[in-house]
Parts: sequence; structure tokens; C-alpha cells
Amino acid sequence: MATMCPKCGNKMSFFDVAVCSECIAKDDQQEKIRAKEEGEQRKVLLEQQIQIAKKILVTTADLQEPYEVIAPIVYNTTNRGLLSSNYSNLEAKYCQEPFDQLVVAPELSPQKSGDGTLLISLFDPSFTFEGSVGQRHFDKAYYLCVAELKLRALQLGGDAIVGMRMDFDLDTTNWGAFYLQMYGTVVRRTAGSAL
Ligand SMILES: [Zn+2]
Repeated sequence: MATMCPKCGNKMSFFDVAVCSECIAKDDQQEKIRAKEEGEQRKVLLEQQIQIAKKILVTTADLQEPYEVIAPIVYNTTNRGLLSSNYSNLEAKYCQEPFDQLVVAPELSPQKSGDGTLLISLFDPSFTFEGSVGQRHFDKAYYLCVAELKLRALQLGGDAIVGMRMDFDLDTTNWGAFYLQMYGTVVRRTAGSAL
């Protein structure tokens, strides 16, 4: 005796389990559409977040306007881990839309052509970089960390970071590695926030 599909009432074949193959195909299709819509919604949401995060003030000094302190904040990065270091992931993230909009960097530090010789192993153990590296990469790491701090400040409900500081460590033994730590205080301006 043939079994009927509980979903559509069509006759099920011997190989069908639970529902008929047509219903399974239909469900798959709907799942794909739903996933696509979800992905698009996430993209819109992320774009909105980035636009707000761009307005977050970051200062190494204090603000002249009143604010409430929300929380201290810290971000660490390192190029330790040859294949996928925290830093290389960070670089990859900020090469992409919409994150690239968050990186606000003026002209990077000037450097001599010889500067790269020591530092090349710090940033690229495969030695495949064209041209010289050096302070420029440290600059870049710095600006990427500022962008990360902005995103975190937003998560905490802040609209500014005051008293930002950085610590920088070089480990030139073995492969050579750098550690960059940036920290500050997330605040929310009380007299008319820009966000
Ligand atoms: Zn069916």
C-alpha cells in the first residue's frame, strides 16, 4: 500500500522518508531564499553600524565637553602565528567593504629603503613583499586597531574614546613578532551626542 506524503498528500515512493522528494526540494528552495534574505539583512545592519562607528571620536587627550564614563577598553593584536595571525586576519578584514570605510589613515610615516630589512620578517615570513616594509606597517597596525576600538566602543554604547594609549613590543628572537596593545576609556557625551 502506497504511503501519502503528510505534507502535500502526494503518493510517496519507496525511497522517500518523512515527506516526498518534491516537498524536500521545495523546502530546500525556501531555506536558500531565507538564508539569502538573512544575509542581505545582516549586510544592511553592518553597513549601518559602520556608518555610526565612523562618527566615534577618538582622542589621545580629553574632551572639552561633558561626558559619562562607560568603561575602559583594550585591543591587542600580534603577528604571531605564521599562517593566520590575529594581525593578518585584521588586515584581511579591513581590506573589505564595509570595514575599509572605518580605517582613517593620513599619509603613512616616511621610511628609508633600508628600513625593511629587519622588519620584513616581522610582517611577512615568506619574504615575498615587494618594496620595503617598515614603519608603514606599524602605522597600519595602529590605524586598524583604532578602527577595532571604534567598533567596540559602539558595542558598549559609547560615542567617544578618550585618553587613548598604545603599547608596542617587538620580539626579535626566532621569527620575530610584534605585539600592539591599544587602550582608552569609552565615554558617552552628555551634551548632545553626535550619534
Ligand atoms: Zn510532499
